[in-house]
Amino acid sequence: MAAEYVNVPAPALEAVVTKIFGAAGCDGAESTRISTHLLGANLAGHDSHGVARVPRYVEWLESGFVLKGQTAEIITDGGCFALLDGKFGFGQTVAPQAVELGIARALQHGIAVVGLRNAGHIGRVGEYSEKAIAAGLISVHFVNVAGSVLVAPFGGVERRFSTAPFSVGVPLPGRPLILDFATSLVAEGKVLVASNGGKELPHDALIEPDGRLSADPHTLYGDYPQIGPRNPSNGKGAIRAFGEHKGSGLAFMCEMLAGALTGGGTSGPVEARGRIANGMLSFYVSPAHFGTQAEFEATGRAYVDWVMETAPADPASPVLAPGDKEAQTRADRLANGVPLQPDTWESILQVARRLGVPTNG
Ligand code: NAD
Repeated sequence: MAAEYVNVPAPALEAVVTKIFGAAGCDGAESTRISTHLLGANLAGHDSHGVARVPRYVEWLESGFVLKGQTAEIITDGGCFALLDGKFGFGQTVAPQAVELGIARALQHGIAVVGLRNAGHIGRVGEYSEKAIAAGLISVHFVNVAGSVLVAPFGGVERRFSTAPFSVGVPLPGRPLILDFATSLVAEGKVLVASNGGKELPHDALIEPDGRLSADPHTLYGDYPQIGPRNPSNGKGAIRAFGEHKGSGLAFMCEMLAGALTGGGTSGPVEARGRIANGMLSFYVSPAHFGTQAEFEATGRAYVDWVMETAPADPASPVLAPGDKEAQTRADRLANGVPLQPDTWESILQVARRLGVPTNG
């Protein structure tokens, strides 16, 4: 790993983050859930959704933007379908509650559909697919960020969508598949990283009001100091949806299903709602109930193997299945530590010091 990164062993990172949330007022179980989830995103290689979020999460807790110790409330319960309200609790608390309910109901009925609204930031959505996989279930998750408009629809130059992630998990024995991505061409966290002098954005990640494509973070943040917060509402441009009209259409559906159907609200029009929140509509299917489990597993596994045998365009980059990259990164980072940008690590240590959490740094 390049010398400009600080390499922190995963257990040490998890321990300090757990203590930070404990010192900020969360109980032990919630502190552990948050730290395990954030560390899990780093281990999967999704640093934009990892421990870099600690300072912002603590600020959200302190300002009452996100609430500790919440239990998602069941609004509707139809057996194989349910709607939950997360009451602005930590996403790492209320999203697992929704997922556990969906898993239990799918194991009972064969299928389940569970909506969750008003959840604090639920983080890396792939983790919820992984939970369903661990129970032997296929799952599909449409997610939006109510009140957060950052992404221009295909053909447009104005913001309309949130970064609206989408995930599918498939439980093939020994070879799980986990598709998990934002429907924006880049996650906002990646624009933030680029604005701090980190990895540059793809040339077409952003769009200016006049339709010019841009890789310049100023398109999203407007003017900003070299060090200090960035505010997306200061920029005039937008992030582009990925995959032209197809990705844009998927983002549209995330807003419809996770935002409009759950009652949590869509990305906009921007109202005086005061806080942003994740919504999620999840579908769970039990292959065991479906009656084709043996064929599904044999056919699915043979298909994965065949796809993986595709001759690569670049011999140094073999074809990967959804979830492979994360699994490889996880193995590497568990063995060798989590590389953090120095500013990220320092900002975590600052929060720790402010809250009286002992650190070695
Ligand atoms: P990304 O662009 O890195 O795409 C990740 C997906 O692509 C994974 O399924 C991965 O296995 C697959 N993939 C990566 N390289 C591959 C290759 N070479 N061949 C085949 N497949 C490959 O992800 P992203 O869009 O940057 O999203 C990052 C994370 O941000 C996700 O975990 C997402 O859930 C999360 N997110 C959360 C929110 C929220 O509001 N909670 C919003 C946006 C994004």
